Amino acid sequence: MSDAFDPTTDPGLQSWVPSAAGSDFPIQHLPYGAFVRAGEATPRLGVAIGDKVLDLHAVAHAGLLDEALPEAAWVFAQPTLNALLQRPKTTWRAVRGVLSRLLSLGDLSLRDEGIAQRALVARSDVRMTLPIEVRDYVDFYSSLNHALNVGRFFRPDDPLLPNYRWIPIGYHGRSSGVVVSGTPIVRPNGQRKSPDAPAPSFGPCRLLDIELELAFITGDGPPLGTPFPVWQAEDYIFGVALMNDWSARDIQSWEYQPLGPFLGKSFGTSLAAWITPLEALEPFRSTGPVQEPAPLDYLAPRGNHHFDIALEVGLASEVMQREGVAPTVVAETNFRTMYWTMAQQLAHLSSNGSRVQAGDVNGSGTISGSEPGSYGSLLELTQRGTQKLELADGSLRGFLEDGDLVTLRGRCERDGAVPIGLGEASGVVLPAPAPWVD
Ligand code: MN
Repeated sequence: MSDAFDPTTDPGLQSWVPSAAGSDFPIQHLPYGAFVRAGEATPRLGVAIGDKVLDLHAVAHAGLLDEALPEAAWVFAQPTLNALLQRPKTTWRAVRGVLSRLLSLGDLSLRDEGIAQRALVARSDVRMTLPIEVRDYVDFYSSLNHALNVGRFFRPDDPLLPNYRWIPIGYHGRSSGVVVSGTPIVRPNGQRKSPDAPAPSFGPCRLLDIELELAFITGDGPPLGTPFPVWQAEDYIFGVALMNDWSARDIQSWEYQPLGPFLGKSFGTSLAAWITPLEALEPFRSTGPVQEPAPLDYLAPRGNHHFDIALEVGLASEVMQREGVAPTVVAETNFRTMYWTMAQQLAHLSSNGSRVQAGDVNGSGTISGSEPGSYGSLLELTQRGTQKLELADGSLRGFLEDGDLVTLRGRCERDGAVPIGLGEASGVVLPAPAPWVD
């Protein structure tokens, strides 16, 4: 499971694609995405390598993936990864193994056949699309620091609810809101009610926020009514992607009792265009916070299920974007600080017999560290808008303004491993639609 040697992350491995070394996408990474070439309409599946994307349809069509997956020509002719996700983890590994070999220095298959010429496309020449058809979308709440920070706003004396250290808390969200990185997010209208107002009003969200998260994408689990334990959970995890769970705090705080988040969350969720296979994260496995009290048996970890992934939030005003000023980094944290792991989240989700399906997206919950500057939401960073952040153009932010660009980034580095970057999850805020007039 965890410490088995995987040749695809061997630091000695080099690619014949010149731009691979030193990039976010070296041969040790090989994240999956879907892209549209200029002049075409249908998305194609690919893996990123350096500043290129390898067209998997072209590779599979040439029969080069048949040894890993006999029906590869059909699976990689699809516009999303769902058909691949429906295959077992052994198949995911076999496909990755062949792709790693085809792209490694010394292997001539792609070049000899002339396939490389048409299958290797500059990433700057393609438009990325959502690489999965999202089935169920669940969002967890697995950062203890975030739960404490948010809890303090509501219950200063007793911020943590009594179930937190026993259950990976989550809720079922709306899959239609999940969009690929780069898609603009329209500020939602909704009901907002300030504590001292006698009644709510309807209009544009005034407290638009972000949530820095990492999502994991699953394959098909066992049939309904068949739970699996924590030590099997990673068998169903295909990979991870950066995620921004855009949140309307004013709408959320008025609507959430007693059933939880609804319209304050469903208006947009940005997912990175590139899905990092779990295998590529193996060199970055890590310990996490001590869980006290010890989790119940079905959630008891076997080995390290945390991952060392440095994360940051960049914010750029409309002016900064126009003048080409780099986004101001307003938060830096690490995924290894999470209280509950992906394996525990998924085992808990399955514990009542609920089904895990190919294309499910499971958000981690806001990833916050313990220090100011390491929080994954503006709610925490600005103490509910009272301590404003200063951007590079001198403007101040409590919450997001129209035209703001938010960019989440992630990077894995460790001695003895080749660093990888997780790409980005970004989006610009567009103004709310005008209210209806009769
Ligand atoms: Mn969230």
